[in-house]
Amino acid sequence: MEKVVSGIRSTGHLHLGNYLGALRNFVKMQEGYDCYFFIADLHSLTTHPHPADFHANVKIILSEYLAAGLDPEKCALFVQSDVPEICELYVLLNMLAYKGELERTASFKDKARKNPDNINAGLLTYPVLMASDILVHNADYVPVGKDQEQHLEIARVYARRFNNLYGVEVFKEPRSFNFGNQSPVKVPGLDGSGKMGKSEGNAIYLCDDEATIRKKVMKAVTDSGPSEPNSPMPEVIQNLFTIMNLVSSPDTVSYFTEKWNDCSIRYGDMKKQLAEDICTLTRPVRERIEAVSSDEAYLSKVVAAGREKARASAAATLKAARQAVGFRNF
Ligand code: AMP
Repeated sequence: MEKVVSGIRSTGHLHLGNYLGALRNFVKMQEGYDCYFFIADLHSLTTHPHPADFHANVKIILSEYLAAGLDPEKCALFVQSDVPEICELYVLLNMLAYKGELERTASFKDKARKNPDNINAGLLTYPVLMASDILVHNADYVPVGKDQEQHLEIARVYARRFNNLYGVEVFKEPRSFNFGNQSPVKVPGLDGSGKMGKSEGNAIYLCDDEATIRKKVMKAVTDSGPSEPNSPMPEVIQNLFTIMNLVSSPDTVSYFTEKWNDCSIRYGDMKKQLAEDICTLTRPVRERIEAVSSDEAYLSKVVAAGREKARASAAATLKAARQAVGFRNF
């Protein structure tokens, strides 16, 4: 079975954009691929998170992904720092990673500009750690967003470089995962422009209670309404309809589209309906988050099983890489 590897950020909460976008794909992928999904806690160290919050953050994200549909019976769900083989491969790949090319990556330049006081070597070599995450399982596919494409290309370069340097075929070149030609779902924010995101401050979280969801939706940016029948929709209104398309029934969408077209739309009514439909969609997930996050025994069983599976897969690749480099047992 072909392998898929994907990292999950280790802080924050899952929002509707993650749920309707990446997570739905993960849930589908785990049916047909050998999937390795990991919580990227080592990556988060670049920003020096407080040790007191570290474990709780991982636990929250783990609970939310489980509640939202990842099935540990079908995929390996693990914590990155539980798999030391990743760090060993990181050391080997660092020897093939050149300073100049790392400095030219868009994410490094962006982060270095935003945090000039903390340009550490871990930040510079972030793409090397990411390449290790992927190559250590010899992944066939990585589901990547636009912002991660450059990192995936770097992983491909290191795979090639390692194989060429040592005259071996240890690493496959991982490819970007796409579901057919379907363009990925993009959930817009409620603030009128751009996509929903944690750092954009415009997100509805799966753990938000229903009063909070209603309040956020009622505050969504709108305009003064259509001035003539069948007029084109401005982006802010299109965004509301895009979310409605993803969470409401086709009848509901048709009803409000007609109201837009004949200029009788009342945004208050539309938002009320949208809020109800978001609450209905997220309610079962919210309930599962509560149940899963308080079940310590279940969480530790999931993490242990994920660790075992991930380490077995990683150890096989690392053994071949160590051989290639020239390490031998005494
Ligand atoms: P992030 O929350 O930025 O760590 O993203 C985790 C995953 O969710 C990535 O695969 C993103 O592409 C995806 N994602 C984040 N925000 C959205 C959004 N608004 N709509 C669709 N997918 C999203």
